[in-house]
Amino acid sequence: MRLFEAIIDANHRAVAGDKEAGLHPADFENELPVIALTCIDPRLNAFFPNALALPADQFIWLRNAGNIIFDPMSSMMRTLALACAVKGGKEIAIIGHTDCQVAKTTTMRLLERFKELGVERHLLPENLIEFFGLFSSERQNVIKSCDIVRHSPLIGPRIPVHGLLLNIETGELDWVVNGYQALDTLASRLHEPISPAGATPDLMKSLSPFHLGEMKFPEGKIGELATKAEDWLSKQAAKIGTPAREAVREVAPVAESVERAAQQVTQYAEKHWPKPPKIPIPPPIRPVKRR
Ligand SMILES: [Zn+2]
Repeated sequence: MRLFEAIIDANHRAVAGDKEAGLHPADFENELPVIALTCIDPRLNAFFPNALALPADQFIWLRNAGNIIFDPMSSMMRTLALACAVKGGKEIAIIGHTDCQVAKTTTMRLLERFKELGVERHLLPENLIEFFGLFSSERQNVIKSCDIVRHSPLIGPRIPVHGLLLNIETGELDWVVNGYQALDTLASRLHEPISPAGATPDLMKSLSPFHLGEMKFPEGKIGELATKAEDWLSKQAAKIGTPAREAVREVAPVAESVERAAQQVTQYAEKHWPKPPKIPIPPPIRPVKRR
């Protein structure tokens, strides 16, 4: 069994009540760490990474509203690419969830909410669905995101890209896209003769040129700026030195009483405010240590 097949197997056993369900991370050394993109929904906080039976240090967690990948060169794609190239991520999973509010929000509702927040219609982009990536099917959204990542030139053909859907009620994970199968298909296609037109996917043609060199910071300039800033700061400090010291002397007693008041408020709050409600946590499937 490969990593995500074992993850889903362990997850299903745990959801069914098997308290021993888990993974041996040592069996999957070459497939860890994994990178997961999920939604920002706070209900997911309780599920990861234990719903995957992975140790926290083998789980690179990315989030955005609706776990959406907009385009093969988008900022989330750059983060995914660096998570692989710099942090050694071996497999990618786009994990959608049931009852996603991004799937339920209509443009009318969104405009109302923005209005309540003081954001007028004319300040927003024309096409809200496209801009925010609103979707109607969590499953379709995962398929689409996987497809964009799979075809992004930043990822390359060695990284499996999986799509999963998490049931927010139970913590159960289900396959949407089996990244191993897609990879096997890709590998077999690579052995077929490729026509010149086929060698350049349409996706690639639409991409703007990407220069890694542009991402480099001019280190010398940063150093220069820092020195200039330091000079300026020390000159200003010398100018205001005396009045500032006097001001500090005046302010100190006030600051002390403010601090005392803050402590009293905290003590009162701790005593009288209701405790936050307990959230039912999904079956903990923790990594299993080898004996
Ligand atoms: Zn969501």
